[in-house]
Amino acid sequence: MNRVLASVFRVDLHRLILLMAVSVALFTLANGLYASYRVQRQILIDNTLESNRAYAVKLAAITQNFLDEAHQQLAYSAAMAAGQFGSRERLQREAERLHRQSDNFNSVLFFDASGRVLVTAPETLPLRDQVLNTPGVSEALLERRLLVSQPYVSTLGNLLVFISAPVIDGTGRYLGLVGGTIYLKQQNVLHSLLGEQYYRDGSYLYVVDYTRRLLYHPEITRVGEQIGANQVIDAVLRGQVGQMSARNSQGTDMLAGYAAVPETGWGVVVQRPLHAALAPLDALMLDVLRNTLPLALLTMLFIWWFARLVSLPLQQLADHVRELEQPTVAGYIRGVHSWYFESAELKRALLVGIDLLHQRISQLARDVQLDPLTGLCNRRVSENVLATWQAEQRVFAAVFLDIDWFKQINDTYGHDIGDQVLQHLARLIRECTRDVDVLCRTGGEEFLILLPDITPDAALLIAERLCRQIARGTIDPVGQVTVSLGVAHCPFHASEAGAVLKAADRAMYQAKRSGRNRVAVARTVLHDIA
Ligand code: GH3
Ligand code: MG
Ligand code: MG
Repeated sequence: MNRVLASVFRVDLHRLILLMAVSVALFTLANGLYASYRVQRQILIDNTLESNRAYAVKLAAITQNFLDEAHQQLAYSAAMAAGQFGSRERLQREAERLHRQSDNFNSVLFFDASGRVLVTAPETLPLRDQVLNTPGVSEALLERRLLVSQPYVSTLGNLLVFISAPVIDGTGRYLGLVGGTIYLKQQNVLHSLLGEQYYRDGSYLYVVDYTRRLLYHPEITRVGEQIGANQVIDAVLRGQVGQMSARNSQGTDMLAGYAAVPETGWGVVVQRPLHAALAPLDALMLDVLRNTLPLALLTMLFIWWFARLVSLPLQQLADHVRELEQPTVAGYIRGVHSWYFESAELKRALLVGIDLLHQRISQLARDVQLDPLTGLCNRRVSENVLATWQAEQRVFAAVFLDIDWFKQINDTYGHDIGDQVLQHLARLIRECTRDVDVLCRTGGEEFLILLPDITPDAALLIAERLCRQIARGTIDPVGQVTVSLGVAHCPFHASEAGAVLKAADRAMYQAKRSGRNRVAVARTVLHDIA
């Protein structure tokens, strides 16, 4: 269980590269989305501000056009009425004509030069013959020119704007004035001019006069209200055209465009709540995400594949490093596809290292098996060989060889000469035996020769030839050196390897006792000697 968990949560190169690349990719994606969100948001804000500004300019122009047209109509009516001031009937007709001609005015009135009402349209207004000293009438009597009043509450209690033109006869005498009213709190011309343009998405527009009083507002109950601190109104009443983000008197963030109506100093403000302008943003972002996602997934897949490609050679090298002592490891490592510089270098270094290691191991193995002085096998090898042959039930002969009077040689000529004698005899033993024979130095000056697949007679022949060969030669400075040998055969003398060795050993001592420089064969035994 722990191993499974460890392999799942193993921090390896593939996972590290993957973690890094995926983090970078995700961060880049998130960053891209955020940047796109910011850009889209700004575009929506800028577009809304710009369209509100353009719209406010247009509405200011429409309002100005209306005022010009109203003045033209009043001026025309004044000219028409100048010759008819003596006849109330005609004046009444003119007032009604003007009232009906367009829906510009809620009422039309003619005044004489003292401010007395001569006629009204509609005729039902209970004002005839009253002298009105309302702000609009008083200003018109005083100024005697085309005028647009500030809003005020009229004699009949209407909040209105009074638009007037002087009536002057052919001789230039001032006869009075004609005026049209716009009842701000009732359905009026401004509603049809401005209200039609009203958006359905929370956008709205309003008009203020220079005293910050609302002349037009979609909520009619607010008309006449004086607006307090408001940056947009401050700007538009300075006569500016522009756009800005600002909080309205209700505390909502608004994107406003504004423009002044030149003649009256009124301000037109078109504004849209920020949240309404940004409403399409969520859908836009979803769209961006939908368009980005397939490529992002492909990128992730590519990252996974590429991380694997990079990590695989190193991972394979690392896996094989664990079994460095195995003889097959070099082959596996050679098969690793190291396609980039570092992995290729690592692979090369590993192969060199493995080669050195294996050389060293075989050297050590050889050292463990060989006698350093003579180069023959040691006792351990002879034991292994005998165990194997025994298991294979192989036929073999064992020959024990011991140098005669070797102690004397050592005592007379020294240990080094003794060693040279040992080396010389080892060479002779090698020359007199076959390649398949196993030659061992089992003790100080004792040798064991194992002869596989041989008859007792053939083994005896080899032993005797070796004995003669050694005795025939001389070794400088020692002179003649002789050896005594004992031969035993498996299964002729014994069927168990240990018993065969003992029999050969005894035969060798038999040779010693019989005068040395000779070969003795083990006595035939039917049962192993313990
Ligand atoms: P024998 O004919 O009865 O075998 O007499 P021997 O002198 O050979 O018998 P012994 O076993 O008493 O002597 C063996 C000597 O071999 C004793 C030791 O000094 C010598 N010897 C053992 N190992 C080495 C070796 O590695 N190098 C040398 N130079 N001498 C060794
Ligand atoms: Mg000895
Ligand atoms: Mg000896």
